[in-house]
Amino acid sequence: MKRREFISKAGATSLALGASLAIPSVAEAKAKYKWKMVTAWPKNFPGLGSGANLLAKMINEMSGGRIKVKVYGANELVPAFEVFDAVSKGTAQIGHAGAYYWRGKSEATQFFSAVPFGLTAQEMNAWLYYGGGMELWQELYAPFNLIPAAAGNSGVQMAGWFNREIKTVADLKGLKMRIPGLGGEVLRRAGGTTVNIPGGELFTSLQSGALDATEWVGPYNDLAFGFHKVAKYYYYPGWHEPGSTMEAMINKDAFNELPKDLQSIVLAACKAVNMDMLSDYTARNNQALNTLVDKHGVQLRALPNDVLKTLKQLSDEVVLELANKDPMARRIYDSFTKFRGEVSQWSALSEQAFLAARSL
Ligand code: CA
Repeated sequence: MKRREFISKAGATSLALGASLAIPSVAEAKAKYKWKMVTAWPKNFPGLGSGANLLAKMINEMSGGRIKVKVYGANELVPAFEVFDAVSKGTAQIGHAGAYYWRGKSEATQFFSAVPFGLTAQEMNAWLYYGGGMELWQELYAPFNLIPAAAGNSGVQMAGWFNREIKTVADLKGLKMRIPGLGGEVLRRAGGTTVNIPGGELFTSLQSGALDATEWVGPYNDLAFGFHKVAKYYYYPGWHEPGSTMEAMINKDAFNELPKDLQSIVLAACKAVNMDMLSDYTARNNQALNTLVDKHGVQLRALPNDVLKTLKQLSDEVVLELANKDPMARRIYDSFTKFRGEVSQWSALSEQAFLAARSL
């Protein structure tokens, strides 16, 4: 019996088996797809841009060249902040960015990248894949003709570079800091002034004193920008971005046009890159941290507990306000908050207890 006959016979007796096999027909196996990937990062930017490159490479290779993805850095095809619209309209078939850039489309997008005092990378993936988060994300993006997927994670970021010591909450008053998104709103409520300027201008702004502080990502990316030359103190932890998810967004028409096996390949590649980027950041952050401290004499500082407590209270207010923006934001907030409560219990007696034990 020929293979395809067998498949179709198996399909006739067992729909579930036939559906799960996803063997392409001859026509489907011959069809070629040319995709453009637009990204919110400079081409080949460490971690983020290299993650986008890996996603394209994996789709190319896993599909045996049936899908050819060409990667465009920010401004090559469209500017960083137009990635969402470009994929939504089909100018590009796939995009790689961070969901918090799209708060202008819906405030609720921010739940799918980073929430201050929210979820770690491990917890975020648990919410997305097994806690109902992915379904809500799909529902949120559906009106824009987009299918979202988690495709990278920075892990816990650093609180940032400061030219002023932070000993009490009063030290945040009048602090001029680059910190975007929800974290920025929290800092404003704590008395700071926030400025949102592109990464490339941060160095000179710190040098000139236009900024007292900036957050960026973590040692791996921060060392590359040379912030240690223009700021005295490097503070942790990154309360505002505890595990920032990067996203792939796929144009729904382009996705639906693919045979089932290629659809699976695209989504599996996203999942692989989601894990790969976190590993990349975890390994390289540590190497870069050693360079910053041992070679450049950077002074590491922990934010005091009282400061963190205040920031946490303010964050809870800011995130709750997000929930009141619209009914969809409320549903996502409810799911996210319930999950955080439940997973915190398990994290406390698994990761947290183990890490405490390891450092005894
Ligand atoms: Ca950041």
